[in-house]
Amino acid sequence: MFQVNENFVKLPQSYLFSDIAKRVAAYTQANPDKSIIRLGIGDVTRPLAPAVVEAMKKACDEMGVEATFRGYGPEQGYDFLREAIVTHDYRARGIDISADEIFVSDGAKSDTGNIGDIFGKDNVVAVCDPVYPVYVDTNAMAGRAGNLTAEGKWDNLVYMPCTEENGFAPAIPAKKADMIYLCFPNNPTGASITYEGLQKWVDYALANGSVILYDSAYEAFITEDIPHSIFEIDGAKQCAIEFRSFSKTAGFTGTRCGYTVVPKELTCNGVSLNALWNRRQTTKFNGVPYIVQRGAEAVYSPEGQAQIQETIAYYLHNAKVIREGLAAAGFTVYGGVNAPYIWLKTPHCLTSWAFFDELINKAGVVGTPGSGFGPSGEGYFRLTSFGSYENSVAAIERIKAAF
Ligand SMILES: *Cc1c(COP(=O)(O)O)cnc(C)c1O
Repeated sequence: MFQVNENFVKLPQSYLFSDIAKRVAAYTQANPDKSIIRLGIGDVTRPLAPAVVEAMKKACDEMGVEATFRGYGPEQGYDFLREAIVTHDYRARGIDISADEIFVSDGAKSDTGNIGDIFGKDNVVAVCDPVYPVYVDTNAMAGRAGNLTAEGKWDNLVYMPCTEENGFAPAIPAKKADMIYLCFPNNPTGASITYEGLQKWVDYALANGSVILYDSAYEAFITEDIPHSIFEIDGAKQCAIEFRSFSKTAGFTGTRCGYTVVPKELTCNGVSLNALWNRRQTTKFNGVPYIVQRGAEAVYSPEGQAQIQETIAYYLHNAKVIREGLAAAGFTVYGGVNAPYIWLKTPHCLTSWAFFDELINKAGVVGTPGSGFGPSGEGYFRLTSFGSYENSVAAIERIKAAF
C-alpha cells in the first residue's frame, strides 16, 4: 500500500472562515431584515489601476501576433520587471540589490510556503503568535513542526507571543531558532517594526547563524519612518530573504504576482541560497504570465504609482475612520497606521468568539476573531480597512450606537 505524507494528516482542519460563515448565516436567518457589514475581509476590493489594465491589454495584443508572441518565459521573471523592481523598490531607497537576486512569482503565499524546500528538516522554526497561518502550516507539512498539542501549538515550533504587554513586538526567543519568520507591517496585528527593532533581529541572526524570512507584503501601507525592506538594515543581506507582493500594493490578489529577494551574500556553509532557490524555481515553477508581468511593471510607471497611491490612501483613510471611531467608542485599538488592519482588544475580557457574537448581534458587523491566528490572539479581534469607505463609516456608527 502506498503511503501519504503523514505530516498532512497531522494538520488540523482550518475552521476559522467556515465557522465565521456559519455564524453569519445563522444571524441572517434569524434577522432577515437586518443588513450585515463585513469588516473581516482580507482581500482588496478596489479595482486594478487603469495603467495596469492598459499594460495588460497591450501585452495581450502582443501575444496574438506572431512577431511579438511569447511562450515559456524565464522562470525567474522577465528582465523588464526584475529591473523595475530593483530600481523602484530598492535602489530608490539606497539598497543595493541586483536583478538576479529578484525572483518573480505568483505571490507571497506560494513563496513563503515554498521557501521551506531549500531548508533542512531539523531546523528550529520560530513564528510570531498570532501569525499568518501559511508559515506554520507549510512547516508542519514539511515535518519541521512536530506534533500538535492540546492547546493548539506545534511542539517543535518556537512561538513568539505578540501581545499588548510587549507592544506586539516579538522578543528574541529563549530557545535558539534557525529559521525566523517575521512580517512587518503585520497581519493580523497591524503592528510595525522600527529600524532599531529590526537591527536587533539581524544581529541575532548573524550571531546565531539563523535565517530571517521577512514578509513585507504590507510595505506599501507604511506612513511612518520605519523600514520598508529588511535590506535597509546593516548585515541583512547575509541573513535574510524578503517576500513582497503586488496583491495588497496594487490589487493583484486575483491577478497574481509577487517576488522574493534572495541575496547572493546569503550562504550556509558555502552553499548559496540564491543558487538553491534558483534551482528550486527552475524545476518546479514556470514563471508568471507575460501579460501579468507587464501589468506589474506598469505599477512602477508614474501614472501607475499615482493610481496605486490613491487606492492605498483610500484604504488607510478607512483604517483611520475605524481606528479613531473605535477609540471614541471606548475600545482599545492597535494598528491601522502602517497597515490595513485594526487589532482591537475585546472589551470586558471577552473571548474573541464571544466578542464576534456580540458584535454581530448588537451591530451587525462581522470581523475576525484574533484566536483564529494563534493562541496569543485570544482576547483580540481583527477588523480590516479593505471594505468601502461608506461601509467603514456605517460600521463605526453602528458600533458607537451599540456599545
Ligand atoms: C496577503 C498576504 C500576503 C500576500 O499573498 P499573495 O500570495 O501575494 O497574494 C503575504 N503575506 C501576508 C502576511 C499576507 O497577509
